[in-house]
Amino acid sequence: MTKANFSGKMALYMKQSELFTKTRKEISGDEVSRNAELLGRGGFIHKELAGVYTYLPLGHRVLKKIEKIIREEMDQIGGQEISMTVLQNPELWKKTGRWSDKVVDSWFKTKLKNDTELGLGFSHEEPLVNLLSNFTSSYKDLPLAVYQIQTKFRNELRAKSGILRGREFLMKDMYSFHADEEDFKLFYEKVKVAYKNIFKRVGIGHLTYLTFASGGIFSKYSHEFQTLTPAGEDTIYVSEENGMAVNSEVLNDEVLENLGLEREKLTETRAIEVGNIFDLKTKYSESFDLSYTDPKGKKHPILMGCYGIGLGRLMGTVVEVLSDDKGIIWPEEIAPFAVHLLPLSNGSDKVSQYADQVYERLESSKIEVLYDDREGLSAGEKFADADLLGIPYRAVVSERSLKENGIEVKKRIEERGEIISLESLIKMLK
Ligand code: ATP
Ligand code: MG
Repeated sequence: MTKANFSGKMALYMKQSELFTKTRKEISGDEVSRNAELLGRGGFIHKELAGVYTYLPLGHRVLKKIEKIIREEMDQIGGQEISMTVLQNPELWKKTGRWSDKVVDSWFKTKLKNDTELGLGFSHEEPLVNLLSNFTSSYKDLPLAVYQIQTKFRNELRAKSGILRGREFLMKDMYSFHADEEDFKLFYEKVKVAYKNIFKRVGIGHLTYLTFASGGIFSKYSHEFQTLTPAGEDTIYVSEENGMAVNSEVLNDEVLENLGLEREKLTETRAIEVGNIFDLKTKYSESFDLSYTDPKGKKHPILMGCYGIGLGRLMGTVVEVLSDDKGIIWPEEIAPFAVHLLPLSNGSDKVSQYADQVYERLESSKIEVLYDDREGLSAGEKFADADLLGIPYRAVVSERSLKENGIEVKKRIEERGEIISLESLIKMLK
């Protein structure tokens, strides 16, 4: 390298010539899922191992935007964010019986130099409940909701679905604590609304159904948020008229009657579980003696709920359902950039100079732009890359657009564009 002349403005704007990743026509190896193929070819992710992925600059931008949406919605309902440890103390998990590999088959375990065993967190109920038992003891401390956005490790048997099922993956996990059932239910409904907002904002609200699923040993049902796609691992039964679904694992006559559904009116489909919410009752609080005293001084165990969303799985799901044969179609709120600026200079200085001007205006207007300033590429090559990367708007500067004193703007989802002025472009993207 001879000179350090980067634009140095990673946050909002980027020159494609400076992006260290490159797009690829094909992906090497054994990727079979659509999300891994498109994200890999676009240079959003890099596969380290089966089920273990690095997020590259473009993918990292998308992930950060998803994280921001989730954080905003969790803060909105009163969640307090923390960051727990990945290394886990076995003693805490022995209290609930979950240290056993027979009970939890997805543990990754490791050892200190002196052979003491440690776990790598696959979930965080035990350490969180243990933590709160240091702070929470009175009715005045409730209700309470705590969450984190952090890496989980799971020894998943199947890891063939790209970032949908990772062995190392980011999860938002929230846990709530309540004095009584009524208060718990109130909060549980708030989480449903927050989750609906999240899935809507990332662009898959119209395909995502609140789904009745097994409550495990804790309660009758849990709820999953399932996004319809043939790529899904789960089979669910959708009731269009009620706007809800039932997971095949709990579909039986009793459940149908309970929910007031008729089997004939349900449609069987495949779906991806993008999130789930659970009623945990007092299972964990009892193991850790997490309790509160009421105003009269009487002690009660605390009721608890937990609420998960996989960030990578969410991103992969968006790619599965919002893409075509040319590439990804990012929804605006999570797109890596708002606009992809493509000069087709064909050796014309006038075109490059005007494109530079457009880039600067977008920059000063604080509009996120990826500037395809790469030289020596044909229009076809630039278009193909733009379609693969899937930025919502493509803005082309060419001799043709300059003749009309403008820029040809096309939405990724539309076939045809139109030539508009720079001012109109800025207005449109603001
Ligand atoms: P699944 O049924 O898909 O195995 P789960 O029911 O075990 O998932 P939880 O442990 O409750 O899921 O995790 C909460 C959320 O984390 C899930 O709804 C999903 O969005 C995400 N998630 C779970 N496992 C993975 C994984 N291996 N890779 C990526 N995301 C995951
Ligand atoms: Mg599940």
